[in-house]
Amino acid sequence: MIHFDQVSKRYEGGHEALSQLSFEVPTGEMAFVTGHSGAGKSTLLKLLGLIERPSHGTISVDGKSLAKIRHSGIPKWRRHLGMVFQDHRLLLDRSVFANVELPLVIGGIARAERARRVRAALEKVGLLAYERQLPATLSTGEQQRVGIARAIVARPALLIADEPTGNLDPQLAVEIMGLFGEFQQVGTTVLIASHDLPLIKRMKKRVIVLDHGRLVADLAAQEVL
Ligand code: ADP
Ligand code: ADP
Repeated sequence: MIHFDQVSKRYEGGHEALSQLSFEVPTGEMAFVTGHSGAGKSTLLKLLGLIERPSHGTISVDGKSLAKIRHSGIPKWRRHLGMVFQDHRLLLDRSVFANVELPLVIGGIARAERARRVRAALEKVGLLAYERQLPATLSTGEQQRVGIARAIVARPALLIADEPTGNLDPQLAVEIMGLFGEFQQVGTTVLIASHDLPLIKRMKKRVIVLDHGRLVADLAAQEVL
């Protein structure tokens, strides 16, 4: 379970990107975070990924406060958390296989187990046949799926994605969202920042709405029309 308790974030020299934000996401739920550009969606995800730290308030996951995780503990935390970005952030000079393998190398997983897990992850996103290729030879949608394979290869309990369909045409966007739905179905907690309202409506999941850093609506899946 993710718990934000009165969380505020003020960037150095900036105004408040998040203001007294409180909400919970139960384990195994899939939820969207939406709102205008600059509403604070990315900031919310960055706080979960420990890319940024809150100025006030407490964020806890499964009862553990993230504030207790020191700098040296961040790599370990990131292994419990898969992150997907809009611009996929793949290493362009490494093969698809090597990109997906990276978190397992960092995690100190043995080579044979790495190969097994990388292939399982690539199969999950439908890209097993592409393992030897360089990312640049793939389409945008395929590149995004490589990014997703990399995010789930270490089997994180929590998957967070920042505008994962931002660069995709509507048909591909629906497919990618479907993939996230599949991860939820096997028990992963999924939190997705998106401003694509038609797509969000179609998914019929919980929607948390931010406006200038404040939570202004929190719709249960059955309230999403
Ligand atoms: P969203 O993802 O909804 O577009 P962000 O979380 O990226 O919103 O940004 C929220 C606010 O924080 C915006 O006003 C943005 O300009 C500001 N902001 C984001 N990152 C930084 C930063 N590193 N330094 C200063 N201000 C930032
Ligand atoms: P095995 O069942 O042989 O042990 P794995 O446990 O490695 O295989 O993976 C089982 C399937 O679940 C694979 O298709 C893998 O890609 C997928 N998977 C990996 N990580 C996650 C995750 N966090 N959430 C959902 N499915 C995942």
